[in-house]
Amino acid sequence: MDLAFTPEEQAFREMVRAWVKEHLPQEISHKVHNALRLSRDDMQGWARILGKKGWLGFGWPKEFGGPGWTAVQKHLFEEECALAGAPRIIPFGPVMVAPVIMAFGNAEQQKRFLPGIASGEVWWSQGYSEPGSGSDLASVKTRAERVGDHYVVNGQKTWTTLGQYGDWMFNLVRTSNEGKPQTGISFLLLDMKSPGVTVRPIKLLDGECEVNEVFFDNVKVPAENLIGEENKGWTYAKHLLSHERTNIADVNRSKRELERLKRIARAEGVYDDLRFRDQIALLEVDIVALEMLVLRVLSAEKSGKNSLDIAGLLKIRGSEIQQRYAELMMLAAGPFSLPFIEEAMEAGWQGDAAAGALGGFPGGAVANAPLASTYFNLRKTTIYGGSNEVQRNIVAQTVLG
Ligand SMILES: Cc1cc2nc3c(=O)[nH]c(=O)nc-3n(C[C@H](O)[C@H](O)[C@H](O)COP(=O)(O)OP(=O)(O)OC[C@H]3O[C@@H](n4cnc5c(N)ncnc54)[C@H](O)[C@@H]3O)c2cc1C
Repeated sequence: MDLAFTPEEQAFREMVRAWVKEHLPQEISHKVHNALRLSRDDMQGWARILGKKGWLGFGWPKEFGGPGWTAVQKHLFEEECALAGAPRIIPFGPVMVAPVIMAFGNAEQQKRFLPGIASGEVWWSQGYSEPGSGSDLASVKTRAERVGDHYVVNGQKTWTTLGQYGDWMFNLVRTSNEGKPQTGISFLLLDMKSPGVTVRPIKLLDGECEVNEVFFDNVKVPAENLIGEENKGWTYAKHLLSHERTNIADVNRSKRELERLKRIARAEGVYDDLRFRDQIALLEVDIVALEMLVLRVLSAEKSGKNSLDIAGLLKIRGSEIQQRYAELMMLAAGPFSLPFIEEAMEAGWQGDAAAGALGGFPGGAVANAPLASTYFNLRKTTIYGGSNEVQRNIVAQTVLG
């Protein structure tokens, strides 16, 4: 196993770093570095910039218009973007549904859908979970009935991330009740502007509307939007989930946030407290260990071994680390991290009114203001993409045997 980067890989890293520095708008990286609210335009704007360069589909092979990068190059690209303060690539299009369309879609579907994903013009949402069908995904009830040349879809999806911006949605729908639940599921692409689709935002603990309920009331979907074969959707869904879990580990973001934690701890005067520094050091060790694990996966991929069965392990460790740095940021700022002030997530907020109400913020507190929001937001990480309890079951079965 070789964990060192070659001179060519280092040169690749430098090339990406220089390009990102030149093209990432400064107001967007400021928001990312300070966990401020990102608008749709911020997220899609960066996606379009990457799309123009041909890097939004950074994991795609050349035959589908991607850069054809190796696993190591993909990792270095993601790391440079995260460290520079680029918004996370919204994965539903380029990282999740695109590989499914490439592997199981027909030529017509590939021609129709992949260009809009690669350019960042079309926003995709993930329609897997339903009330009562999260961990037990195979029990989905949203029904798609074939009527002539189209399907009629009725039912409900939930927790649809950023679905309020969605143009298209990939859905697991029930097309049969025969046999095992897994065998009656199909994978259907649905235009979210179709009559009968209602998107209702859900306000979360952090006060933001990151997820939605999506209702389907007799929505007509052309049969040509079915991916692969009817009732084979479970196979395609599993293909996609392995991409989701590796992506959620997000070790690059944790490296960036570790630096933010140190900035906050210094500003609040707790960086010199040995006990607090111990906590930061322990976190740093775990982040480095996770990074090593990711590099081991890359090294295995380089030598042609398939190691996707540890995707669950990466998800568990990555999500726990994300929650730990959010907790330490809260601890560092103490009571000043607590108030949830909606405006505090806007770039340019100065904190005057709140500072007055609380008797004044200490040195770094304006930058700390969205901490409560970050803390609450990251509660989700151990739940979404398959809860950590369920991941542990999978790791126990597939890795430990
Ligand atoms: C912020 C956020 C964004 C999301 N975005 C999307 C999205 O865009 N699209 C989408 O389709 N879904 C999305 N999800 C849904 C997510 O995938 C589910 O929440 C997740 O799979 C868990 O399902 P559930 O919420 O129904 O919980 P449940 O399955 O009801 O689980 C409840 C609890 O029981 C535990 N549990 C369940 N089964 C077992 C078991 N067999 N062994 C041990 N413990 C078990 C779970 O770990 C959990 O603690 C999102 C969720 C969140 C929180």
